[in-house]
Amino acid sequence: MILLNMREKGTEMLENTSVLHIVRAGSDITYSSLKVIGNRILDAFRGTIQEFKLTRHKAPVVDSIDAYFLTKVLDQEYGGHVLGITDADLRTNDTDAFYNCIFGGKNPQNDVAVVSTKMLYTDRIDSNKAYKLFIDRTLKVSLHEVGHNLGLTDHAAYQTAQDGTLCPMSRGEYNKFGYIGYIRAIIDGRGTNFCDECVYFLTKLHGHKHAIDGLVKDGLDSKTGSKRFRGLN
Ligand SMILES: [Zn+2]
Ligand SMILES: [Zn+2]
Repeated sequence: MILLNMREKGTEMLENTSVLHIVRAGSDITYSSLKVIGNRILDAFRGTIQEFKLTRHKAPVVDSIDAYFLTKVLDQEYGGHVLGITDADLRTNDTDAFYNCIFGGKNPQNDVAVVSTKMLYTDRIDSNKAYKLFIDRTLKVSLHEVGHNLGLTDHAAYQTAQDGTLCPMSRGEYNKFGYIGYIRAIIDGRGTNFCDECVYFLTKLHGHKHAIDGLVKDGLDSKTGSKRFRGLN
């Protein structure tokens, strides 16, 4: 009986995560750019996420919003697997000032992750190149948060994928960089391919379609943190 329940839960989880609702919540990112981001997310999570849907959340535009509250609202409105993208500041209750304003986060009680684009502008977006960089950053923070939705955990160290770029789950140390330095060193340093450890986890749990050649590392720590709101970038 217990086994059956576990299996049911597992199937439910897969159904839940294979369709990603990308919800634009007060963001000025264009629809076509969101489509590009959605397709690149599908590409990065080959097979694990099969489809995405774009939705515009009809909410008043605010300057800043409590990250946890936003995940609750999006879960109630859309349910399932959700990535909310907003250009409002995301606030948390953390006391550290740096953590008070976050790039993104994931609520471990549901499958909702949120990303704020507000801090990802480090320069004026006055050229195609600057815009592309901004979209890339939004994508990389999104991959990280969606990765959390699928059970992946942060890498404190600089773990690289096979192409030599940082795994999207790389987190690094904020304090060492300050936020602009952090964006340039960690977020810009990330690629869109996951490291072997993450690929192994996704393949085992979600049927990620990626040929694993080379070594598979054991001992992936997949426990969820005890914090109410996890994943601050
Ligand atoms: Zn990884
Ligand atoms: Zn994280």
